[in-house]
Amino acid sequence: MVTFDELGLDEKLVQATSDLGYVNPTTIQEKAIPVLLSGTKDFIGLAQTGTGKTAAFGLPLLQLTDPSRKLPMSLVVCPTRELCMQIVNELELFKKHLKGVNVVAVYGGTSIGAQIRDIKRGVQIVVATPGRLIDLIERKAIQLEEIEYVVLDEADEMLNMGFQEDIEFILKNTPKRESTWLFSATMPPEIRKVSKRYMKEPIEVTVGKVNEANKSIDHQYYVTAAHHRYETLKRLIDFNPGIYGIIFTRTKADAQEVAEKLTREGYDIDALHGDLTQGQRDKVMGQFRDKSLQLLIATDVAARGIDVQGITHVINYELPDDVEVYTHRSGRTGRAGLTGICLSIVHSREIYKLRQIEKIVQNQFHKLEIPTGKDVCRKQFYFFMDKLLKVDISHGDYQTYVPMLQEKFADVTKEEILTRLAAMEFDRFLRYYENAGDLNVREDKRNARAGDKDQGRSRGKQDGGGRKNYSVDGNYKRLFVNLGTKDGFYKASFLQFILDMSDLRKDVLGRIDMKEMNSWVEVDASAATQMIKNIDGKNYRGRRIRMNDADSR
Ligand code: AMP
Repeated sequence: MVTFDELGLDEKLVQATSDLGYVNPTTIQEKAIPVLLSGTKDFIGLAQTGTGKTAAFGLPLLQLTDPSRKLPMSLVVCPTRELCMQIVNELELFKKHLKGVNVVAVYGGTSIGAQIRDIKRGVQIVVATPGRLIDLIERKAIQLEEIEYVVLDEADEMLNMGFQEDIEFILKNTPKRESTWLFSATMPPEIRKVSKRYMKEPIEVTVGKVNEANKSIDHQYYVTAAHHRYETLKRLIDFNPGIYGIIFTRTKADAQEVAEKLTREGYDIDALHGDLTQGQRDKVMGQFRDKSLQLLIATDVAARGIDVQGITHVINYELPDDVEVYTHRSGRTGRAGLTGICLSIVHSREIYKLRQIEKIVQNQFHKLEIPTGKDVCRKQFYFFMDKLLKVDISHGDYQTYVPMLQEKFADVTKEEILTRLAAMEFDRFLRYYENAGDLNVREDKRNARAGDKDQGRSRGKQDGGGRKNYSVDGNYKRLFVNLGTKDGFYKASFLQFILDMSDLRKDVLGRIDMKEMNSWVEVDASAATQMIKNIDGKNYRGRRIRMNDADSR
């Protein structure tokens, strides 16, 4: 195996990696560091988050830095404030044996004045999010004339977040740029375009397969009915007592609602979503990082750039619309050589999506049964008893008290003590799970229900292709809407739009078919009237929305 000092790194940097406990370079570090140290090459590194990308560019960047320079010579651009702070923290650790190298973090949501002062003091490396950087450029508070190295980290995320123009602006405004190093988990055509336009014969290194999720992640899924999603989530959390995980939802309303419900039921959880102020967000992240929060629930946008060590589980409360987003979600676990589990709660109509994801991550999903109430209680018991046996009793003056206890418990059997302990700890679980039902959707149940629907539908209308137009999970109505992709919607935004307008929860929705001009939405029959009432006749961008029962025309 290669070691850090064989990569051409300065011994002070090698020392820093060993201080951090890094034994060997990761694959991306081994492949990137020798190339980047030449300082004159453009570079594309295709690697997932968690593969050690920060050190892969951070170590060479520090080595190439001239501490006598007063104007910034290196610029790292990344999508989010969290990532920006993480990169700076890591650079600080890497440079601890170097003298005179200054790094500054530049991101939005906090005082720009302090950042301007830091820049004025003289820095060589600027780590920035695109928006704030442009703000500083426009205020002429930062000079990019001397920039030689530009690193674009998580380039695909930046493009997903709509920063393409900003990035091009930044690249155009770095006239002395000698090298551009681009890191990305995926390689969409837009990134190819940016690389063609702004990079010269880049050396491309791929770690694993592009878009491939980490092999150290076990991908599991559980099939339940849409209206049992929350119960299933709870049961899966209860079944994994030592869980330290992130739960993903598609909308911030779901994130908030699930967090509130779980908090009320005594779980250690908080939500991360776009409505939080920066201070609130930092507080939640701080609590999660130091593990005083066991669970974090977040939307994809809010969770961007988060890198927390030791995540045991990622839970997809809902699958993402965009299958590539799955890779980003699951990549939050199984980092730096550890293993992790990515659980997805799906309903039967989403299984086709899992097959698409399997192709992208080139990894098979394992279907697991949602545990029964008894399974959960058993698991909790064992976990507790394990903790009991492992508790450290080597300190503390137990001998003073134990004889008294022995006397008090002289007539109580071991079984009874254990039972009492269990009752104290598990009363809530036992009561809750006493009569818990089966949450799995099983083939036979599905067929039976699908049969019912077929009967029902033969009384009504079928669509042209004879496609089953009702969900197998409930009694759905299919509604027509005169809005489509031409109106600037994609599935997730459309879903959010109709739910917000109709004041309904997502559980009521079935499949959405979007065309350019129109869409068809499956809605729980009991909610269809309310949805039509709240949406039909309203205006969207000056146009009257028409919504009606698609099968009654
Ligand atoms: P990154 O992909 O840069 O976000 O890194 C993911 C995690 O892996 C970070 O917490 C790093 O501290 C850790 N890490 C990076 N390189 C190594 C290495 N060579 N050995 C062990 N851990 C590492």
